[in-house]
Amino acid sequence: MVENRATGILEAVEALDFAAARQCVLDTVGAQTPAVETVPLAEAAGRVLACDVLSDRSYPPVDRSIRDGFAVRAADMPGTVKIVGEVRAGEMFGGTVREGQCIRIMTGAPLPDGADAVVMVEYGTVDGTAMTTAKTPKPGEFINRAGCETAQGDVVLRRGVRLKFPQIAMLATVGAATVEVYRRPRVAILATGDEIVPVEATPRTFEVRNSNSWALAAQVTAAGGIATVLPVAPDNLEATVRLVEDGLQADLLLLSGGVSAGEYDFVEAALARCGAEFFFTRVKIRPGAPLVFGRARERFFFGLPGNPLSTAVTFEVFARAALELLSGIAEPALQIVEAHLTQELREKGGLTRFLPAILDNGMAEVTPIHWKGSSDVPSLARSNAFIIAAPDREHYQEGDAVPVLLQ
Ligand code: AMP
Ligand code: MG
Repeated sequence: MVENRATGILEAVEALDFAAARQCVLDTVGAQTPAVETVPLAEAAGRVLACDVLSDRSYPPVDRSIRDGFAVRAADMPGTVKIVGEVRAGEMFGGTVREGQCIRIMTGAPLPDGADAVVMVEYGTVDGTAMTTAKTPKPGEFINRAGCETAQGDVVLRRGVRLKFPQIAMLATVGAATVEVYRRPRVAILATGDEIVPVEATPRTFEVRNSNSWALAAQVTAAGGIATVLPVAPDNLEATVRLVEDGLQADLLLLSGGVSAGEYDFVEAALARCGAEFFFTRVKIRPGAPLVFGRARERFFFGLPGNPLSTAVTFEVFARAALELLSGIAEPALQIVEAHLTQELREKGGLTRFLPAILDNGMAEVTPIHWKGSSDVPSLARSNAFIIAAPDREHYQEGDAVPVLLQ
């Protein structure tokens, strides 16, 4: 522990390695059960389910054909049988299929009594009321037995899952016209820096437009939060404190910039004025080492480093997990695939590095982008992923498999 020059408070200055810092975020924020609201099914996509969903009946509720064809008795096959009727999806066949008989059946129709297999329409030759096939179907062929997909009362969706189209299909199937979901967390975004001007402005040579607030807002929205962009805080303590106080009204506060060791980096001091506790203030990653994570007034905050690639990466690998936990997501996980390098890669080691890259060929191949450091937004804009280089590896060969974080 040492005294922080800016804040006067004692801090752990030991930089955490990547895994330890991420675990710290997961453990500190922990599983949350946010307030619940009920939304129509049509508005449920992208939301987080707030209750387990049970199957209202068995699926399928009766034995059902999964092909167009002929409902037969397997023992009669191969051979010629008499077509004695037809059953379509949406109706039941009243009679029974007896020895030497079959009926025409359509996909989704209930299997008639007496039949125990389906011969696909392509394999039956029809001559008047006679159907001949060379097939020898096993009993049960092309039939989904009642309850084989799920039994009545089974849990078909678990609380804490993000609702994408497969889960929406499930909800509609069991008749969930409305859905209980967690409230989306509100996230305040506070960029700092005297050199930062609005997007609409024409910056002077020594100024830059505020890209972080808008990139973060997009990231927050993509992760299921409701973003509010606060005015940019100038590099002075009083103004920063006032805006931090505003930001701490939200469920999560994301700051960018002002967390390095410069004379005009006031973020930590402003947070300390608001009674912050700091869980870590440095992480062994590049870009993004001077990353601050803490809590003030019972709200979590991240002081993300200001360079745009640092801001983007630290949001994705740390802040996003906190936001997901605050959204009620049961187990936040990084979206990582393994891909093969299309060229060799040499990068100074010692830190976990997140390198902008292009992932293509069905996510099988990855090509690093020759970027110019953490201010290089054009390189970020060309990337669609980040190669994760391990601290103990400086050299990767063409063809080596590497972990790649999806954007
Ligand atoms: P800082 O962490 O405050 O020292 O900021 C590092 C660098 O990041 C600055 O020199 C800016 O060029 C850049 N930067 C900081 N905030 C923003 C922002 N909101 N949008 C774009 N660039 C930023
Ligand atoms: Mg700054």
